[in-house]
Amino acid sequence: MQTKIPFDMRPEIAEAEEIIRNCVHCGFCNATCPTYRLFGSELEGPRGRIYLVKSLLEGNEAGEKTKGHLERCLTCRSCESTCPSGVKYSRLVHIGRGMLEKSFPEKLKNRMLLAVLPHPQRFSKFAALIRPLKPLLPSGAKYALSGKDKSRPAANHSRGLLLLEGCVQSVASPSTNASASRVLDVLGISALPVSGCCGAMHYHMGEEEEAKAMMRRNIDQWWPHVLDGAEAVVSTASGCGLMVKEYGEVLRSDPEYAEKAEKISKLARDIGEVLDGEDFRAFGDRGKERKVAFHCPCTLQHGQKLGGLVERLLSSCGFRLARVENPHLCCGAAGTYSLTQREISERLATDKVESLEADSPEIIVTSNIGCQIQIAAHSKIEVAHWIELLDQPKKGKP
Ligand code: SF4
Ligand code: SF4
Repeated sequence: MQTKIPFDMRPEIAEAEEIIRNCVHCGFCNATCPTYRLFGSELEGPRGRIYLVKSLLEGNEAGEKTKGHLERCLTCRSCESTCPSGVKYSRLVHIGRGMLEKSFPEKLKNRMLLAVLPHPQRFSKFAALIRPLKPLLPSGAKYALSGKDKSRPAANHSRGLLLLEGCVQSVASPSTNASASRVLDVLGISALPVSGCCGAMHYHMGEEEEAKAMMRRNIDQWWPHVLDGAEAVVSTASGCGLMVKEYGEVLRSDPEYAEKAEKISKLARDIGEVLDGEDFRAFGDRGKERKVAFHCPCTLQHGQKLGGLVERLLSSCGFRLARVENPHLCCGAAGTYSLTQREISERLATDKVESLEADSPEIIVTSNIGCQIQIAAHSKIEVAHWIELLDQPKKGKP
C-alpha cells in the first residue's frame, strides 16, 4: 500500500508506515475476520482499518466513526494468520489507537475497569463485596465469582520454573494454576507462583506507559529467579503468555530494561509448550475416551501460533476431540471487549458456543481465563482449563 506520511521523528510512525507498505490490499484477511463476517462492511474488516490508520498517519482528521471502527476490532489477529504478506496488523492498530487516544480521552468505564481488573487484591475485594448479589448478576460474573482453589505441592525439585498467577485468573479460577503445579510436580518440575498482572489490559486499552511500568515491575520481581536458573516463565492464560512474549518488543527502546525484557520473552512459555517437551506416559490414561471440545483462544492460535498443540496433547492422553466448526473465530471475550462492546461480544459468544456444543462434548476446555468465563456464561456444558483434565486421574472429572 502506498503512503504519503509526513516526516515524523517518532519510531512508531516509521514502524506503522513499514507495516502499511507490506499490505498488498488483496483482502484475503477479510474472509477470516469476525467483525467483517458480522457486518459485511469493509470498514469493519482489517483491510479497511489499515486504510483508516493510514489516513490518520497522513494527517487526516479522525472522527468518532473512525474511533468506533478501530474499537470494534477484537485484536484477535485472525487476519494476521491469514495474511500472505505477513502484515503485523495488531501492532498497527495499537499504534492507531494510541494516536486516537490523544484526541478522544478514555471513557470513564474503561478507567474503572483498569482500576479494578488488573489488580488481584482490589479485584478480590471487589468480588467479596458483590458476592452476596451473585444470584442477580449476569452468568459471566457468577462464574468469575465461583473460583475455588486446590492444594498445591511443595516446591522441592531440582528443576523449577515461574508460574504467573495473573490478575483475573488468580481470583476467578485459582484451581487452574493449582492443577498446573500438580501436573508439573508429577513431571518433576517445581512451579514457583509469581503474582502481578502482565500489563496486557492496560497495553491493549492504550495505556502504554502504565503497561510498561507494570512490565518493568514484573521483570524486577522475576529477574532474581531467572538468575537462579528458572527454566521458564510460564503462563496458563494464553493472553498473559502472549503479552510476556512481547515484553522484548514493547521495551526494546528502554535502555535499562531492553535486554532483560528480551531474555524474559525468550523464557516465556505457554503451559502446553512446557508439557510438550516432557515424557507424557504418566498422563496416558487420563482421557479414557472422554469427549472434549477445545476452544483454542486467539492469543494461543493467532498470537502465539500454537494452534493444534493442546489438541495433540489431549489426544495423546486418551481424550476424544469433538468436532468444532470455525475454530479460527474469536469467542468475543477479547480482553475487556465483552464489557465494552457487549452486543457484538454476545453475538460472537453465541456462535462460538453453538459450534463448541454441536458435537455433544462432555466438557468444553480452553486455555485463557477470559474465554473460559465468556464460554461458561453462555453454555450449559461444564467449562474448564484443559490442564485440569490432566490433574484428575481417579475421579475423572475436573
Ligand atoms: S491479507 Fe494482508 S496484504 Fe492482504 S489486504 Fe489483508 S493485510 Fe493486506
Ligand atoms: S484483529 Fe480480528 S477483528 Fe480485528 S481486523 Fe483482524 S481479524 Fe478482524
